[in-house]
Amino acid sequence: MRVFNFSAGPAALPEEVLRQAADEMLDWHGSGMSVMEMSHRGPEFMQIHSEALLDLRELMQVPASHQILFLQGGGIGENAIVPLNLFGTKPRADFVITGSWSQKSQQEALKYGAAHIAATGRTQAGFTHSPPNSEWKLSDDPAYVHLCTNETIDGVETFEIPDLGDIPLVADASSHILSRPMDIAKYGVLYGGAQKNIGMAGVTVVIVREDLLDRAMSICPSAFEWKTVAANNSMFNTPPTYAIYIAGLVFKWLKRQGGLTALEARNIEKAQLLYDTIDASSFYVNKVERRARSRMNVPFFLADETRNDDFLAGAKARGLLQLKGHKSVGGMRASIYNAVPLEAVKALVEYMKEFEATQA
Ligand SMILES: *Cc1c(COP(=O)(O)O)cnc(C)c1O
Repeated sequence: MRVFNFSAGPAALPEEVLRQAADEMLDWHGSGMSVMEMSHRGPEFMQIHSEALLDLRELMQVPASHQILFLQGGGIGENAIVPLNLFGTKPRADFVITGSWSQKSQQEALKYGAAHIAATGRTQAGFTHSPPNSEWKLSDDPAYVHLCTNETIDGVETFEIPDLGDIPLVADASSHILSRPMDIAKYGVLYGGAQKNIGMAGVTVVIVREDLLDRAMSICPSAFEWKTVAANNSMFNTPPTYAIYIAGLVFKWLKRQGGLTALEARNIEKAQLLYDTIDASSFYVNKVERRARSRMNVPFFLADETRNDDFLAGAKARGLLQLKGHKSVGGMRASIYNAVPLEAVKALVEYMKEFEATQA
């Protein structure tokens, strides 16, 4: 029996996709081979690869000015790969800190150059808001400005993306990529690891504006140099073939769901239901300011934290799994990515109300 899986990542995948992958496991489309046994340069995998790229371009409406790359290394890898690719002429960047992931990005960039903090959303209560662009104190002529548009751990999402003129905006969108339409033209670079809202761990999607392909530091490893990877159609070295295949199946599933506009409506409905339940209760609390509440990752706390283990045990008994908050913030967290159905959120809020009723 399948459970309702609220994991932050690796996270739930659409059941349809898993079934299709199972069906095709031993013999992909009459090839007599599993996708993971194929040459990445053979016609079968080339088809899988190019369809995945095309479907993603269509889903996200990526403009012709931007390349889509399939890399390895995850979001954490990009923390180094981004400065290695953009610090070639000026080794300095600005960081908007909205949570733990952007903090990590800033720390890693320090290995390669200057990493100025332009704004921070940290308050007494932790990371609870996304500083608006009017509060960003940019340094003089940075190579780029980095922003994590959805902080997976803290549950802070940024919805207003400013126009920074000539300064490229680099976004870590790992945990909300494909959750809603995004105007890719506003970004110099947008990246995300696959295991949250795309597919399985192993592939990282990097969308990069073409004019930024020429700014790498000379020490940048070839396998991570966007220009080299782009020139080789993301096949400079052996790509994570099976992860690309699964991502491709998810892209086709997303298209069947009606694309990102339809997904966004569903994601709003799911998030609304959960936040409304939290706000209506005096037992559950979410500390993030309303305009920055993440639609994908919903952290919440119990008024009586001694009941955390009871809450999790009761949830597990109902098939509601992976609700424990990140160790750095504690409490609970429900990640409600594209593949988590509305029924899962309904089951969760029903349980939350029941659990609350056992108090007092
Ligand atoms: C999960 C996550 C990462 C780290 O991804 P890895 O694949 O573990 O490197 C980075 N940034 C964000 C926003 C994430 O959600």
